[in-house]
Formats: sequence, structure tokens, C-alpha cells
Amino acid sequence: MGTVHIDGSFGEGGGQVLRTGLTLAAITGRGLHIDNIRANRPKPGLGKQHLACVEAACKICNAGCSGDKIGSTKLDFTPGGVAAGNYNFVIGSAGSASLVIQTVLPVLFFADKPSTVTVTGGTHNPWAPPFDFLKESYLPGIAGMGFKADCKLLRFGFYPAGGGEIVFKVQPKRTDEGNPPDLCEPMAGPKISAKIYTSRLPVQIAQKQHKLLLDTGLDFEAIENINVTDSVSAGNCVVVRITDKKRTIVFTGFGSRGKPSEKVINEVVTQARDFLNSGAAIDSHLADQLLIYMAMQRAGKFTTNRLSKHLTTNMEVIKKFLPVSFVVEKEHDYYRVLCTGL
Ligand code: ATP
Repeated sequence: MGTVHIDGSFGEGGGQVLRTGLTLAAITGRGLHIDNIRANRPKPGLGKQHLACVEAACKICNAGCSGDKIGSTKLDFTPGGVAAGNYNFVIGSAGSASLVIQTVLPVLFFADKPSTVTVTGGTHNPWAPPFDFLKESYLPGIAGMGFKADCKLLRFGFYPAGGGEIVFKVQPKRTDEGNPPDLCEPMAGPKISAKIYTSRLPVQIAQKQHKLLLDTGLDFEAIENINVTDSVSAGNCVVVRITDKKRTIVFTGFGSRGKPSEKVINEVVTQARDFLNSGAAIDSHLADQLLIYMAMQRAGKFTTNRLSKHLTTNMEVIKKFLPVSFVVEKEHDYYRVLCTGL
């Protein structure tokens, strides 16, 4: 099968198009040619973050690559075989460690032996999956499909300084394990809890955010204030978890200098409320990130409260590599997404 050509300006036109392309090229063994990389972003082309993902993808499948430099808007990626290993990837400051994991994890499930991946970078960055999301929502979400991995946070890294460290242990996927996802039922008797992370900030910030959470009227079972002592920089984020017997959904609000705590809390609580009111089974971030695993199963369905551009763009990129089709139907206050093998 020939090289897959992708126009990076398509749909979302950001880093996700590139990452999904790299991941699926590595899994299918097909070449990838991508141009107009991140054309819809103020500073198009490969940023440090994206280059880190390209380099990590090259390492895990012995790929040949051209165009792999900062600012490049074109890339040619020729994968070799997927190799299990003990990998260590270091991203400069500001880069998200999670997005490197998002790129390489799906591939390493197809290696013949277990792998360990350690990534140094941001662990709690806005616009990327925070570590809590990966551990509590994403990994359990893919485990049901037979993709088994464990993870550990070794050190926190807040945006923009980064400097955190996370480690993932990945097991090869057994062909006789796992079912296509059927995530369509709304949460049953959801329990809500929160974690307030602060690093190198006055204690009053967490206290205020704690009070603001209590004032929202959401029925919190527990709210933990966690003073992070091992991060190289100041940082603040508020994680709201919604759990039932089957799954955990994670929402995050990020603090930054000059941003009032009211805004941080409002950001995370609005997402949680919208999700709970919709009757959807999973949130939009989990939806765009589970899609690739569902497509590898060639079947599955879920309901989500928001049809994000990340999700619809991912569908188009996935269809270029895998023989699947997607159907999206609007129902009540959510969308039903169905994946079928062709
Ligand atoms: P760019 O700089 O081009 O926007 P990027 O590579 O930084 O690119 P996106 O292309 O926007 O980022 O992709 C971000 C990914 O992070 C998506 O998969 C999105 O679902 C995920 N993500 C963003 N915020 C969260 C969050 N709060 N929780 C979980 N996942 C998140």
C-alpha cells in the first residue's frame, strides 16, 4: 500500500492531524507525506512540541524522516518495524509530555514485547491531556478494548516551565482480548470529586478555589487540596472527576498569572455541568482520543456531548489509513458516533 498524503490544513488544522497521521503510519507501516502542517495556527509548522512527537514516532518504529525541523510545514515519514523498548523522551519547556504519549502509545501496543516510555516535559498543560486524565479516564477507557498500560507521575510539570516526568508501561495487545467499545449509556449515579493542585503559590489560592467549588452547588463527595512540592515552577489546576461503576470522566481548569480563581473554577465546572446535563457517556476530549482505538477494533460506538473539530478531523485522518466508516447522529443533547469496518 502506498504513501498516505495528508493536507495538514484540513479541519482542525493543528497538531492533532500530524500526531494521528504519525501514529497510524507507524501502525500500518505505510509512508506518510504531510504538508501545510498546522496551517490553521498563528505560528504554522512544527513547534518544539510537535517535533518531539515526530522524533518519538521515528524512534519507536525505526522510521526514516525528512522535514523534521522546527518551522517545517512538510514532513515525509517512512516507518520501519515497531520496536519494543525502554524509551526516554525529553521535550524542552512548554511541551506537553502527554501529547508524546498520545502519539506513541497506540503504536507500542503492536510491539512483540512490553515497553516502558518515560517522558520529561509538561504534565499539566492547558490544551493537552493532563496526567490525571490519562491515568483515570484514558487508560481505563482503552483497557476494555484490550489495550493495557499502567502509568505513574514521577514529577509534576506545569505549563510553561514543564520539567515534569511521567512513565508508561505498555503491554503488547493480544489479539484474543478486548471488545469494541459500547459507551452509550449516561453515567449511572455519578459521584463527583475534585483535586486542587497548587505549586509554589500562597495557600489562600487553594482555599479560595475550594470554597468556590463548594459554592457551585455541584454535589462533591470529596475535594482535595494538593500542595505540589516537586515542581520546578508555580502552577495551578483544578481537576473535577465524575465517576460511576463503569468509567471516570475528567475535566480540568487551569490557573495562570492574572487569571482569577473564579474563572478557573467556572471553566472546569461549566464543562462538568454541560456533560452531566447532556446525558452523554463520554466527554469530547476522551471521544477524540478513543477514536483511533475504536477504529483499530473496526467497530464500536459512543455518545459524546460535543462534536469537536478534533473528533471530526480525526475521523477523516483515520479513514485515510484504516478501512472504517463513521456515522454521527444527533440525539437529544448529545451525538452518537458509530464506527464500522468496511
Ligand atoms: P496546536 O498547537 O497545533 O493546537 P496541539 O498539538 O498542541 O496543536 P491540538 O491539535 O489542539 O494540540 O490537540 C490537543 C489534544 O489534547 C486533543 O486530543 C485534545 O482532546 C486533548 N486535550 C486538550 N485539552 C484537554 C483536556 N483538558 N483534557 C483532556 N484532553 C485534552
